[in-house]
Amino acid sequence: MQNITVVGAGTMGNGIAHVFAQHGFTVTLVDTQPAQLEKALQTISRNLDRQVAKGSLTEEQQKTALASLRQETDLAKGVRDADLVVEAATENTVLKTTLFRQIDEWAPPACILASNTSSISITKIAATTKRPGSVIGMHFMNPVPVMKLVEIINGYATRKEVTETITALSRRLGKTPCVVKDYPGFIANRILMPMINEAISSLYEGVAGVEEIDTVMKLGMAHPMGPLQLADFIGLDTCHAILRVLHEGFGNPKYAPCPLLTNMVTAGYLGVKTGEGFYRYIPGNKDLFVSDRFRQ
Ligand code: NAD
Repeated sequence: MQNITVVGAGTMGNGIAHVFAQHGFTVTLVDTQPAQLEKALQTISRNLDRQVAKGSLTEEQQKTALASLRQETDLAKGVRDADLVVEAATENTVLKTTLFRQIDEWAPPACILASNTSSISITKIAATTKRPGSVIGMHFMNPVPVMKLVEIINGYATRKEVTETITALSRRLGKTPCVVKDYPGFIANRILMPMINEAISSLYEGVAGVEEIDTVMKLGMAHPMGPLQLADFIGLDTCHAILRVLHEGFGNPKYAPCPLLTNMVTAGYLGVKTGEGFYRYIPGNKDLFVSDRFRQ
């Protein structure tokens, strides 16, 4: 396996491309938005610089990684030589099933098709292709170059050899794979998202402010980041989409997204990627500023 195509160059796509390039793979990054591709390559370059400065990567390795990356806006061209496609486009079922139908048509027959989806059924995505046995979930965590886990999700039809290949590949990337079954939210988000939703509900009900909620969870539970900051980091639209999948998938009202989250997503306050969510983000400044909307 040598040629990897990553579809979607947003928060996750750039990190996934980075990690594959750093480990000697040839990487094609595909996005419909040229600006996203530009931004992704700048982010990768900046993050590789940081690794060199820290001494975890040599300048030679950095050069090789950068040279192995190419960008593409045409999906058919982007996947035609791929051994593995990792889809990391927006968390939307119709968008992903459409994408997989197209990728299935254009990628070589032996190519494995993986999705980085946080919650959408791998079985459903696989069923739209003519190779459901070669479709699998490869769920990286954010930020991809730093986080060690890859949650591997077997769809109903995923072949054993495909799971073994992706498990071995995850280890080659320096990650720890964890294989789970295909039920809504898998394991990571089935447990994480209700906590984030509950934090937003606590804010919505006025039980505590943004800083108090995050401080309780950081200092009280030893979480490295509070749930509201984490929600901003993941993207509030992504959190909302995952909660809707859990809500529909289990038919249980406990998963319904908090109305405050729905409002923020509708208004376009999506967290780090739009510059404001529960906090305000100033480029180049790592300090946290609670959004004026939540100042008490
Ligand atoms: P994002 O909004 O940052 O990026 C999505 C990218 O997909 C955008 O660049 C967009 O232009 C591109 N895109 C949309 N339609 C496309 C198409 N048809 N072809 C090619 N590109 C297309 O989203 P993200 O946070 O990177 O999430 C991507 C996936 O990763 C989602 O499935 C999400 O659930 C999952 N995920 C996200 C996180 C996280 O912390 N953000 C963590 C794990 C998994």
